[in-house]
Amino acid sequence: MILSKKLSEAFNAQVNAEMWSSNLYLSMAVYFKKEGLNGFASWMMKQAEEEMEHAHQMIDYALDRGGDITIGAVNVVPTGWGNPLEVFEHVYKHECYVSELIDKMVEIAEADKDNASRDFLFGFVREQVEEESTAKSIVDQLKHYGECHYGIMDHKLGKRE
Ligand code: MG
Repeated sequence: MILSKKLSEAFNAQVNAEMWSSNLYLSMAVYFKKEGLNGFASWMMKQAEEEMEHAHQMIDYALDRGGDITIGAVNVVPTGWGNPLEVFEHVYKHECYVSELIDKMVEIAEADKDNASRDFLFGFVREQVEEESTAKSIVDQLKHYGECHYGIMDHKLGKRE
């Protein structure tokens, strides 16, 4: 069974969305580097790499299933934030939006009775639970610690493998 045209187009759009996410996090990493928060920057660099990896996984899957992928232009990403809390509130909001995009893809796969795609996408459904929870917990910690303890968070986040 090959991917339906609708699902193939959804994968194509999602590849672009994952690349956009990667650039968003790269832009956030640059912001942190400029602020001298190298631990935050390193965490964000890893996040950016992970998003590009998602794009690669989706490209491989869609092509394996006979879908059509074209790499198009990636829209410009935001560049300025006021403080680390603002950045991570943005991360949380963005990850909730990505979860909605993945859920819509699952709906298409379900309408197509495409079990392989459902199975593939459920991996991303689980991934989004983790992404939302991680972002939310960093937001909560930043609120809890406050500005004078950004150094502790910077140290902690810099340890991300
Ligand atoms: Mg992703």
